[in-house]
Amino acid sequence: MNSLLSKIRRDPQFRIQIAYRTALLSMMALLWASFLILTFAMNRGQSESAVFQDIAKQRMLSQRVVLLGQLALRATSDEQKSEILVLMGESLAELKSAHTDLAKLIGSLDTKGAVAETLHDVYFSNPTQLDLRMRSLVTNANRFSTFLMNSPDVAVLYLGPMEELASSVILPALDRVISIHNGVSQRSAAMTKYVHLALLILSLALLIVIWRFLFKPLAAKIGMRTMQLQVAHDNLQYAVLHDSLTGLANREYAMTKLQSITESSVEESPIKVAIFHLDLDNFKSVNDTYGHTNGDRLLELVANRMQAVVGNNGTACRLNGDEFLIILDTISASETVSGIAGNLLCALNKPTNIDGLFTQVQTSIGIALFPDDGKTRKDLLVAADLALYEAKNTGKGTYKFFQPKMIIKYNQTKTLEQEIDRAIEERQFQPVFQPQINATSGAIIGVEVLVRWHHPERGILLPAEFLDAAASLGKMTQITRLVLEQAFETAAHWLENGTEFGRIGINFSNQDLLLHGFVDEIAAIAEASGLTCERLSAEIVESVVINNDDTQCMAALMRLRELGIKVEIDDFGTGFATMVHLNRKLFDRVKIDRQFITNLDQSERNLIIVDSIIRLSTALGLSVIAEGMERQEEIDTLLELGCVEFQGNAIAPPMPANIAGKWLKAHNKTPLLGRPSNETATASTTH
Ligand code: C2E
Ligand code: MG
Ligand code: MG
Repeated sequence: MNSLLSKIRRDPQFRIQIAYRTALLSMMALLWASFLILTFAMNRGQSESAVFQDIAKQRMLSQRVVLLGQLALRATSDEQKSEILVLMGESLAELKSAHTDLAKLIGSLDTKGAVAETLHDVYFSNPTQLDLRMRSLVTNANRFSTFLMNSPDVAVLYLGPMEELASSVILPALDRVISIHNGVSQRSAAMTKYVHLALLILSLALLIVIWRFLFKPLAAKIGMRTMQLQVAHDNLQYAVLHDSLTGLANREYAMTKLQSITESSVEESPIKVAIFHLDLDNFKSVNDTYGHTNGDRLLELVANRMQAVVGNNGTACRLNGDEFLIILDTISASETVSGIAGNLLCALNKPTNIDGLFTQVQTSIGIALFPDDGKTRKDLLVAADLALYEAKNTGKGTYKFFQPKMIIKYNQTKTLEQEIDRAIEERQFQPVFQPQINATSGAIIGVEVLVRWHHPERGILLPAEFLDAAASLGKMTQITRLVLEQAFETAAHWLENGTEFGRIGINFSNQDLLLHGFVDEIAAIAEASGLTCERLSAEIVESVVINNDDTQCMAALMRLRELGIKVEIDDFGTGFATMVHLNRKLFDRVKIDRQFITNLDQSERNLIIVDSIIRLSTALGLSVIAEGMERQEEIDTLLELGCVEFQGNAIAPPMPANIAGKWLKAHNKTPLLGRPSNETATASTTH
């Protein structure tokens, strides 16, 4: 019992089961009781009505017997008399039998009850003694019948008492029995009614108790649980379909929505849906400069601005990182789309202030329209992606609508990617070498390594034809590694056979510098070939320094210097390197770009620029090298301006390893200063 109680207390499910079963059993018990009572009442009603009929029959028969007696006495013929007597005999037999049965029943009643006692009195006690009087009536009637035919005078003597008995005793006594019987019936009917009423009230009370203490709390609990379940379900649904940082819909949501759009309304052209693929152009540097917490704040801000512009026109979703997708599904014209794209750029490119840190992100947007630009989700996303790629490649911070020609470009890029992969595998990228000399001493101070692609169909390709594509495909480090392995091998070979080459000039790309540990890897490859780092110099173009004014890039530059590799700022003057960059002691040498050297002797402006660069660099303790001189006049002007280091076709063009080796060996180390001009201008074909 105790374990049952503790189970009821502990286990809510068991409690519910018990409650339901109890309620069910109680209801069944009440219904069963009602059924029994009804059956009992019906049985008693049936027996009472039988008794009632019996008494009524006795009443009728006793009157009839007396009436038949009177008729028989007045009958004129014997024939009539005997007919009446037959009827009288039959009535008497019936009366006797009816009376005997009832008298027996009443005699057998337990006299404790008031009703039974009264009936008993009526039948067997004075003054009524109904039993005796009834038998007396029967006896007198029998005697009357016996004497009527032969001695009517004697028969008359019995008729008088019969009339007397019937009218003054038997009929009133039977009436009394009927009234007692009626009283009992009414009482028992009332009792049945009360019991029924009680059962009804009990049932109702039980129902109220069940409702109040079982169903109501249970219903409340079930309602509460259902609500909690619904809330949990809603929360889960929200979490599954929304981005936790920005609260925007997430990739899952975006993909499902796009799927349903493309599946349901493909027939409904020209109704248009526009999708915007957005990418924050410089979010990574914000993240790196201000930290991830501020980066997150910026993303929240961007999401809010985006949501405000999109409003009820569609749904803004965050795909991942700094990538967003906007689905505009209430669009009727592409002008509206341009308007929204313009508003988005205005809103998103505004400067932001996060905890006092001012920054500005630029956003590029690629736009694809459904169903014009793609009928399936995949096609539509590819179209928006290609448009975004185009937007990024044409200056960033802008939007571009998808155009079919982008697919051609994309396919070309894809093919190029496959070709580059194959070229790396088959070592089709090979180095050429361009010497650098010091005009004062005539000594070779370096050899710049420049890549050439030996394309199986297109022949030898220059860097301008493939480097940008390789960079956008993220292949630069692989190419650099491959080219330098070969270059170091060549240089090591030169060292072995006593060919002087100064330093090997390496062009480091953006990707090279940002790949953690790459600088050390290159140094290790050089050393493995037998070259120390003092034999290396690194050329970094201005844009790499400017675009990656971050810790990782700076760390790579410092590491180069730590290793003893000289660092040079390449193509100086073409980018936006500032005095700050020159002043940071990150560089050893400035390489003046070819565009200022070409026709230097004829261009006053170039002369001013080159003169300024030389003065500034010298003043800052940096050495200066000029590249791209093709004529003696250019060399002479440079010498006049004080520049003594040269790399250009006028000295030597970029050459393959074997030719470069021969050139280096044969190089006449006479100083250029004061040499006759035809000795220096040895320009030959570019390899
Ligand atoms: P850069 O580092 O400024 O290299 C000098 C470029 O100027 C070379 O072009 C060279 O052939 C060219 N040049 C030198 N003197 C003359 C001249 O007198 N006249 C003319 N017309 N051109 C001259 P190239 O080899 O086409 O390389 C172009 C650029 O490609 C390089 O400019 C460099 O930025 C990049 N590059 C070349 N090879 C590599 C490489 O292996 N890795 C990386 N990251 N970049 C490379
Ligand atoms: Mg260079
Ligand atoms: Mg250059």
